[in-house]
Amino acid sequence: MSKQNYHVRTETQLVHNEHAVQPDTGAVSVPVHHASTFHQRQTDTLGTYDYSRSGNPTREALEETIAQLEGGTRGFAFASGMAAISTAFLLFSKGDHVLISEDVYGGTYRMVTGVLRRFGIDYTFVDMTDIEQVKAHLKPTTKVIYIETPSNPLLKITDIRAISQLAQQHGCLTFVDNTFQTPVLQQPLSLGADLVVHSATKFISGHSDVLAGLVVVKDGQLAEDISFLQNTFGAVLGAQDCWLVLRGLKTLHVRLQQSQETAWKLVDFLSTIPEVQHIYYPGRPGHPGSACHAEQTRGPGAVFSFCLKNKAAVDRFVSHLNIPVFAVSLGAVESILSYPAMMSHAAMPKEEREKRGISDGLLRLSVGLEHFEDLIADFTQAFQALREGTADRDRGYLPENKGTPPASQAVEGVRS
Ligand SMILES: *Cc1c(COP(=O)(O)O)cnc(C)c1O
Repeated sequence: MSKQNYHVRTETQLVHNEHAVQPDTGAVSVPVHHASTFHQRQTDTLGTYDYSRSGNPTREALEETIAQLEGGTRGFAFASGMAAISTAFLLFSKGDHVLISEDVYGGTYRMVTGVLRRFGIDYTFVDMTDIEQVKAHLKPTTKVIYIETPSNPLLKITDIRAISQLAQQHGCLTFVDNTFQTPVLQQPLSLGADLVVHSATKFISGHSDVLAGLVVVKDGQLAEDISFLQNTFGAVLGAQDCWLVLRGLKTLHVRLQQSQETAWKLVDFLSTIPEVQHIYYPGRPGHPGSACHAEQTRGPGAVFSFCLKNKAAVDRFVSHLNIPVFAVSLGAVESILSYPAMMSHAAMPKEEREKRGISDGLLRLSVGLEHFEDLIADFTQAFQALREGTADRDRGYLPENKGTPPASQAVEGVRS
């Protein structure tokens, strides 16, 4: 039975792609090829595989699967999201200029300002939601417009189609970090983007147990260029980790669908709580860019942020929560609560941070697979404690208080 010649929906594609059944054995799971090298039968021509940095059958299965899901022609798997993003930036040379979302992921910000600068690559951070501002900052040397939508942690929306058109007119590329939405909800290549990057560490793998990055392109020359850079720079994803990502992908749709449904319910609940000053969620009608978001995606996703009065309120609220993990990262089976001021944006001066709306009262929640009523009950009691001024407690490890977290935990996010 050929699985390639008829159209199936994403849910089906996640489970029944061309690697779902192994042709030689009938195995319904992709074998993990740990081999670093491959025996060659001839002296004058190499076989399909020669060395695992250049090509590995397990990695290839993942790369073909993600390419198909994003509607691209070729995919590439890397050791982390940052390895994928950094490799994509190696396309550019001294004298080139890159235009980037001002609220880009912290690691991408660090790559651009700390590394590209040293290689003589110029950059400008702009508010991508304002197309006039983007236009105004294009230079003759601009080679890429780099987008993240929704952005982190304020879930700002960029019009992928409009930016891609602008880039095309200007003769430069459009890159989209699609980590928050995944191809299940958003397919930037179909909206005109040239290259999609993912931290597959998040929703795509989904279990907080693997670091991985992906790149997908549609243009043949761009595919050749990324392939060359992947092999040259060498930050490839190991075979075992490729298998973990492939396994995560099979449940991506149900996980995201369920988490998104719960996110809606939590947002509705939080909007009734007087201590919550603001909620940032692209699914809310009043959210800036929500109409554009609805037009370019299939859902608002499973991540939202909300604002309490100040740090003291955050401390008390968080100390009384039992269910969500309080940590850096997102997109996992467990709900993950993050504190941007001390985690993703700790390196940013307070003034700069607050100017961008990232106040000391802001929390971000990536909704997991817990029952929504349990999450609401947990939030309810934590808000009650906040209201009554109950003393902060040492949460220790979940679900019961099993000791004090190591001191290093508090600074983990600064480095991530
Ligand atoms: C986590 C993340 C990254 C970096 O990915 P790693 O796998 O941690 O290297 C990049 N972009 C976004 C939006 C992320 O959330």
